[in-house]
Order: sequence, then C-alpha cells, then structure tokens
Amino acid sequence: VFILAIETSCDDTSVAIVENGTVIRSNVVSSQIETHQRFGGVVPEVASRKHVESITWMLEEAVQESGVSLQELSAIAVTQGPGLVGSLLVGVVAGKALACALELPLIGVHHIAGHIYANQLVHKLEYPLMALVVSGGHTELIFMDEPGKFKIIGRTRDDAAGEAYDKVARAMHLPYPGGPYIDQLAQEADHEIVMPRAWLDPISYDFSFSGLKSAVLNVVNRSQMRGEELQTAHIAKGFQESVIDVLVTKASRAVREFGAKQLLLAGGVAANKGLRSRLSERCLELNVPLLLPPLNLCMDNAAMIAAAAFLKWEQQEFSELDLKAEPQLKLEEW
Ligand code: ATP
Ligand code: FE
Repeated sequence: VFILAIETSCDDTSVAIVENGTVIRSNVVSSQIETHQRFGGVVPEVASRKHVESITWMLEEAVQESGVSLQELSAIAVTQGPGLVGSLLVGVVAGKALACALELPLIGVHHIAGHIYANQLVHKLEYPLMALVVSGGHTELIFMDEPGKFKIIGRTRDDAAGEAYDKVARAMHLPYPGGPYIDQLAQEADHEIVMPRAWLDPISYDFSFSGLKSAVLNVVNRSQMRGEELQTAHIAKGFQESVIDVLVTKASRAVREFGAKQLLLAGGVAANKGLRSRLSERCLELNVPLLLPPLNLCMDNAAMIAAAAFLKWEQQEFSELDLKAEPQLKLEEW
C-alpha cells in the first residue's frame, strides 16, 4: 500500500510517499524558516503564499524520488488540522484535487497523530503506550491503549514547550526558531541560573510554562537594566533544566500509573538533546522502552502524516471530498 501525504499545517511544506505506513519512499520538506526569520516568527499570510508556490513542484519531486508511479498509489492523505487555516487550506485543496483526479480515497489526518506515528517509521509500537508530545503548539501526555485511540491525560494550561523555547530565545536575541539555539547553549554551559518549576497540583499531569518564561524574562530585563552582560548560556541551561525536569517527572509518573509498555516522544522539541538523554536515563531506571523519533522526523514532515493515515487505510476509514481544514481539530475526534 502506497500512501501519498501532504503536510502544510504551519511553515513547512512537505510531500511524502510511504509504503505500508512504515517504509519511507520519499519525504520532501521545504522549510520557510529563512523567510520568517526576518519577522522573528511565522507570518500566516506569507506562509500560505509560500505553500502555494512550492506545493506543485514538491508533489512532482516526491513522486519522482519515490520511484512509485501515480497508478500504484492507494490513497491521498493530508493534514486536516490543527494549524494555521490558510496554510492547511493549501494542502487540503491540493489533496482533494489529487484524490479527485486519480480517483483515489482521501484521508484527513490530525497533525499530532502524525507526530506520534512518526515513530512507526522506525520503531514497532506496543500498546498500551504513553506518548509525550512536545512541539511548537502542543505539550501533552497522551495515553493510547490501542492504535489510533488517543486519550489526553495532561496538557499545557498556557504556553507549549516549544513556544516557551522560542519566546525565551527571542528575548535573548537568538534567531527564530530558538529551540535548537537554547539547547546548544544549555549543553555548553558549565553552570545554571536556577529557574522555578511549575508542578501544579501533585496529581495533575498538566503543564505550565508561562511562569518559567516570565522568570527568564525577569532575569534578562534585570541584567539589561543594570547594563550587565547577559549570561545567555547560564540562563539557557536554567530554563532547559526546568522544562526537562517537569516533563521527565510527569511522563515517568504517567507511565507507571497507566502501566504503559512504552514511552514515546514526539514533536519538534523531541529533537532536544537534553530531553532525549534525560528521558533515556529515566526509562532505563523504569525498565520501560523509550521510542525516540530520528531528528529529521521530529520536525514537521509528510512521512509522519502518511504513517498515521495508514491506520485509517487499514480501517478503510476515508474522508469525503468536502473535507474542511480544521484549525482547531480535536485529537480524540481525528
Ligand atoms: P504543532 O506541532 O504543535 O502544531 P509546530 O508544528 O509549529 O506545532 P513543530 O514543528 O512540531 O511545531 O516543532 C517546532 C518547535 O520545536 C519550535 O518551537 C522549535 O523551537 C522547537 N525545537 C526544535 N528543535 C528543538 C530543540 N533542539 N530543543 C528545543 N526545542 C526545539
Ligand atoms: Fe508540528
């Protein structure tokens, strides 16, 4: 079964062809980072226009690279949401047009289901499992007792982890997106400025990063007011330690309480070196396998969308051609 998938939910355009939900035949990604860097963040209008410019040649390139002919395709998958509505629309319209022209079934996919199933491209998933999703827009603990069934047991009450990384980086005048820069600085630092941790109430699996963000901004502002040199690396390390401490502690408690057979990490922040190594250590102690996506599959890409779409293919669960982009799509109803 060959599924062609399209992902345009934010600022990366991507088209992929995946065999049986596990073997990547092609996964073409075109990042718009350089365009948005000038503005210090994603400009929705600009993002949709860029998707329009790239989508056609990327479809051609993905098909060519895969060695799979159009006649061999089994279905067309597309990210339906959540994301920026103008960006999603470009992918949805392209997906519908292809499905219509090739007379193939269309499969709408939830972006976060995609991030989770990126792991299926390299690992064998065993249920029940616990997923820790950390990305630009989401920070969630998701319990799955069977494939495609998602139960969100905890989520951020304010900023997502990636969002906090980007805002803190911006305050320290690091380029956009700031996550990788903070990660690098934190690795190099020999000392940290200790930052607060938001545990919330003891039984909650929810997260909160806005207090931490404010604490960092206070340190930055105070140092600027005093005309001191900014201790960027020490701040980065303090911030990162706080994020990792909370994520690792809550995720491992959830694994034990729910009796999960595996812990799975997903989303853009899953590329974080500190988080990967700390979670690995903790999972060794817990004697629970940790599934980490390879770095190129942490960021937004269409192969992960094809991997998730394969679940729906197996159930012959197809979307109608009036499928709509859903900026607020719920994971439980994907
Ligand atoms: P969502 O998936 O929630 O819709 P998104 O698609 O915009 O949001 P992703 O592309 O999954 O988000 O992830 C991007 C985020 O990952 C950015 O906030 C970026 O700073 C962060 N990120 C990338 N690499 C790292 C890293 N090494 N350390 C920390 N954060 C990182
Ligand atoms: Fe994403």
